[in-house]
Amino acid sequence: MPRTSVRRPSVSLDWPRLQRALAIETERGFCNLQGKTSRFSEYLHQELSQAPLQHLPTQVRDRWQQTAAAYADYPNLSTPERQHLVVKTRQLLYEVHKQLTAAPRPDPWQQSLAKISGIGDRTADRLAKLGLYTLNDLIYYFPRDYIDYARQVAIRELEPGQTVTLVGTVRRCNCFTSPRNAKLTILELVLQDRSGQIRLSRFYAGARYAQRGWQEQQKRLYAPQTTVAASGLVKASTYGLTLDNPELEVLEHAGAEIESLSVGRIVPVYPLTEGISPGILRRAVDRVLPLLSGYPDPLPAAIARAHGLIGLETALRQIHFPTDHDCLAQARRRLIFDEFFYLQLSLLQRRRQHQQQHSPPVSPQGKLIEQFYGQLPFELTRAQQRVVAEILADLQQPVPMNRLVQGDVGSGKTVVAVITLLAAIQSGYQAALMAPTEVLAEQHYRKLLEWLTPLHLPVEVLTGSVRTAKRRQILDQLATGELPLLVGTHALIQDGVTFARLGLVIIDEQHRFGVAQRAKLQAKGELPHVLTMTATPIPRTLALTLHGDLEVSQIDELPPGRQPIQTTVLGRGDRPHAYDLIRREVAQGRQAYIILPLVEESEKLDLKSAIAEHDRLQSDIFPNFRVGLLHGRMNPSEKDTAIQAFAKGELDILVATTVVEVGVDVPNATVMLIEHAERFGLSQLHQLRGRVGRGRYPSFCILLNSSRSDAAKQRLNVLAQSQDGFFIAEMDLRLRGPGEVLGTRQSGLPDFALASLVDDQDCLEDARQAAADLLAKDPELQAYPLLRSTLKQRRDRLLEGMMN
Ligand code: ADP
Ligand code: MG
Repeated sequence: MPRTSVRRPSVSLDWPRLQRALAIETERGFCNLQGKTSRFSEYLHQELSQAPLQHLPTQVRDRWQQTAAAYADYPNLSTPERQHLVVKTRQLLYEVHKQLTAAPRPDPWQQSLAKISGIGDRTADRLAKLGLYTLNDLIYYFPRDYIDYARQVAIRELEPGQTVTLVGTVRRCNCFTSPRNAKLTILELVLQDRSGQIRLSRFYAGARYAQRGWQEQQKRLYAPQTTVAASGLVKASTYGLTLDNPELEVLEHAGAEIESLSVGRIVPVYPLTEGISPGILRRAVDRVLPLLSGYPDPLPAAIARAHGLIGLETALRQIHFPTDHDCLAQARRRLIFDEFFYLQLSLLQRRRQHQQQHSPPVSPQGKLIEQFYGQLPFELTRAQQRVVAEILADLQQPVPMNRLVQGDVGSGKTVVAVITLLAAIQSGYQAALMAPTEVLAEQHYRKLLEWLTPLHLPVEVLTGSVRTAKRRQILDQLATGELPLLVGTHALIQDGVTFARLGLVIIDEQHRFGVAQRAKLQAKGELPHVLTMTATPIPRTLALTLHGDLEVSQIDELPPGRQPIQTTVLGRGDRPHAYDLIRREVAQGRQAYIILPLVEESEKLDLKSAIAEHDRLQSDIFPNFRVGLLHGRMNPSEKDTAIQAFAKGELDILVATTVVEVGVDVPNATVMLIEHAERFGLSQLHQLRGRVGRGRYPSFCILLNSSRSDAAKQRLNVLAQSQDGFFIAEMDLRLRGPGEVLGTRQSGLPDFALASLVDDQDCLEDARQAAADLLAKDPELQAYPLLRSTLKQRRDRLLEGMMN
C-alpha cells in the first residue's frame, strides 16, 4: 500500500483526503461533487493554494501553483478537460508526496511502475489514470469479476429465467434520454456472438446521466466492435430474449487484439476508465507478478497454517489469473483474511495504546448519584444496572474510558448517560453531551432540567440557534468551570467552546457523527472519558469492524410494561383503514405520527410535498383533530416548537419527515403510519417505529407499501415479524449492504477490496482471534518485523478510509 499518510513538516497537507477527493471525483465522472462544506473544485483550490512548498524544487513548485490556480476555473471546464486536470493533479501529488516521504531503502512494493521493465512510460501514464503508480498499487488492483469461458453461454441457447454471462462484440450502441421520462437515461446495445444477436438495455436514473457528456462517453466506451461481457437474468421482451438490466463489462476495446483473453480460461475483469483497455492492465499485471517471486510472506507461518491459508505470492497470482475456481476461492480467502487481519491488528493496537494513557479516575459513589436514584420515578432494568456498573468500573480506572453503549430504541440509554454524567460531575469534572440534531439536544436538555434541577445542578444547551448573548454567557461559565454540564449539537465542537476541566464526553447516536467530529469534542479536554451511544444495533461483523477498538456494552432488555408494537404492511389502497385506526386512537386520547419519506430534504423528488400533504390531512382527512407539521427545512426553533407542542399533547397528529427518526420520546404516541415505507432501510424503519410503543399503551405501526415488487413486500414483512433490532439489522445487512444499514455517509467503514461484511463473517472472526492472540504474545510485533512494516503501510490506508 502506498504510504499516503506519512507526513513531513514541510508540506502540511491532508494527503489522504485530497487523494480520496480526487478518486471520488473520478468515480463520479467529474461532476464537481458537492461535499459537506464545499464543492470539489473549491476544496482543491483551497487545499492546494495554501500548501507551504518551500522545500520543493522551483519547477515542481510552479507546476503546483498552476494546478492550484486551474481549479478556480474547474466549473467552466468540459468533462475531458476536467479529467485531464484531475489526472495531472493525481500524478503531481503522487510525485511530490513520494519526494517528501522517500523511504531510505527501496522497497520492492513501492517501485514505480514506470521503472519496471516491460511497462514503460506510456503504459505507466495510463495506469496513473486509475490511480496506479507503484507495483503495490497494481498488484492490489483486483479484478472486479471473472469470466469463465468454459461456462459461457451462446446467445442462441439462452432460456428465460437463467442467470448468465455472455460475451459478444457490439454491433450497435445508443445512449439517450428516455422520450417519456426526462430523468431516465437508456443505454442500448446490440451484441453478437458466433451464434446470434441480442438486444440489451440498461437504465440509469438521475440528472448526471441525462448529460450529453456522459452519454457520449458511454457511446465511445461501447463503440461498435468492442468486446463486452453482459451478465444478468434472461427474460422475454417484445424484441425477443434479453437480459434484465444487465451488468456490462468491457473486455476489449474496438481494434485491440484479443490475445490477452487467452491468458486463462478464467479471465479477470478489471474496473476500467476511459482510454484504458483491459489488455493493458492484464499485460501489466502479468509483467509484475514475477517480481514477487521469493518475496517473503508477512503473515506468520503459524497463523497461515492454523487457518489453512495459502501463501501471499500464490494468492496474488491466483487472484489475477486463476487456474480454476478452487484456486480462486483459496486466493480470495487468503486475501480477505489479510484485509480483516491487518484491520483488527490496527484496531487492537489502537485500543492498547489508548489504555496506556492516563486519565483522572472518577468516583462511582457520591451524593449526586444517590439523590438522583432517590427521585427517579422508575427502577433501572437489570440490563441498565449492568451497563451502569460496567461504565462506573471503567471510570474508576486511571485510563480513559472508551465505551460504546448499544441499546435498541427505547431501551433507556438516556438515564444511563445521566448517571455517567453525574459520576463525572460529583468528582469535580465538567461533562458534555452531544446529540446529532437540535430536536434531540433540546429534548435531552429538557429531560436533564427536569431531573437535575432538584439536585441544584445547572445545565445549559448550546446549539446553532442559541442567541449571541446567551451563548457568550454559557461560554464564560464553561471556561471558568462554573457550568458543570453542557448539552448540545455540533455547536459544541466549535472553536470558541472551551472547558475548564472537561472530564467526560458523551456522544448520543454516535453513528451520526464522523470520527473527526467525535475526536474534536474529545480534544476539548485532557483525555476525557468517552461514552458513545447508539440505537442502531449493528451486526457483530460491523461492530468488530467499526468498533474493534472500543469496549461495548449492550442494553438488551426493554423497560417493563412496554407493549409490543403491532406492525402491519398495507398496500396503497388500504390507506383509509390506516386513517381509521388513527381516528380511533386519537379519540381515546392517544397521538399519532404520519411519516413522509422525504429522505434527503433537499431532493425535490416527485413526492407530495410535506406541506401539501399536511394541509390535505388537516382539512380533508382529520378536520376535527389538530395536525402539526415537522420537516427538515424548518428552522430549529420551529422544529422544536412543533415537537414540544406534540409532546405536550397540543397536537393530535404530527406529520413529519424522517427528522423524528432519532431519539424523539413522546410516550403517549401510539400510531405511526409510514408512507412509501419501501423507500427506507429496515433499520431506519425500525428506528422510526421506535417512536411509538414507548408508553404503557398498545401501539401500532403501519407500513404503506407503494411498490408492486415482491422483494419490497418481503423486506417490509421482516418488520412485521420481528421487533428485535439486531435481527432486523442483520437482515438489512444481507438485503442492502453495510453502507445502507448504517444509513450515513460518515459510516467510517474501511474500503475493503475483497472482503464482504455479509459473506465473510467467519473469516472476520478468525482474523480477529488471530490478531488478538498474536498481540497478546507480542504486543509490539517485535518478532515480526516484516508484518510490522506491512501493517504500518496498510494501516495508513485503512484508517484513512475510516477517518472520512
Ligand atoms: P433510548 O434508549 O431510545 O434513548 P430513552 O432513554 O429515550 O430510550 O428511554 C425511553 C423511555 O423509557 C423514556 O421515556 C424513559 O424515561 C423511559 N425509561 C427508561 N428506563 C426506564 C426504566 N428502567 N423503567 C421505565 N421506564 C424507563
Ligand atoms: Mg436516545
